[in-house]
Amino acid sequence: MPNKEELLNQIKEEILNDKNIHLKETATNLVFGKGNPDSKIIFVGEAPGENEDIQGLPFVGAAGKNLDKMLEKIGLSINEVYIANILKYRPPNNRNPLPEEIESHTPYLIKQISVIQPKVICSLGNYATKFFLSGGNISEMDKKEGITKLHGKPLNITLKNLDIKLIPLFHPAAIIYNRRLLEEWDKDIQIVKNEIN
Ligand code: URA
Repeated sequence: MPNKEELLNQIKEEILNDKNIHLKETATNLVFGKGNPDSKIIFVGEAPGENEDIQGLPFVGAAGKNLDKMLEKIGLSINEVYIANILKYRPPNNRNPLPEEIESHTPYLIKQISVIQPKVICSLGNYATKFFLSGGNISEMDKKEGITKLHGKPLNITLKNLDIKLIPLFHPAAIIYNRRLLEEWDKDIQIVKNEIN
């Protein structure tokens, strides 16, 4: 029986062998995910940016620094969490993800989550939050409330028969220049801390 690491590697191979996946042609590297496959908490962002595309790892740029600080504040290290994105390849010039890209990439995210079986998913920003709240139904995504209303409120969702607590958070890039959001963010991460303890 393969362990979680091996199962994740199989999914990674599947993506690398997927000739039809969107954005592969314009990206430098696949950005699959990083962290501990046995983690009970997954952070899911939107899409790789320039640094992530170069290094093939999620959240290694400016937004990643905020995420690292947040993990530190709630007493978690990268070895205790798993981090991934809605999109596995960078959209050109960091433009917003298109519905067909989300549709082409998220089956792999769902597979990743099914292997890891987290208790908590922190969705970072609007795209990730709407994706989980729509139950993966792209056409339903538009109808959901935005992150401004939903942040910091734990919600129960079911994903592939797994009962998961979804905690929407502002995207760590959004708080770089916004002090007001930073205060909200600090409150929200305490909620994450309470949920995992
Ligand atoms: N923003 C994201 O949503 N994901 C990354 O990996 C980096 C920046």
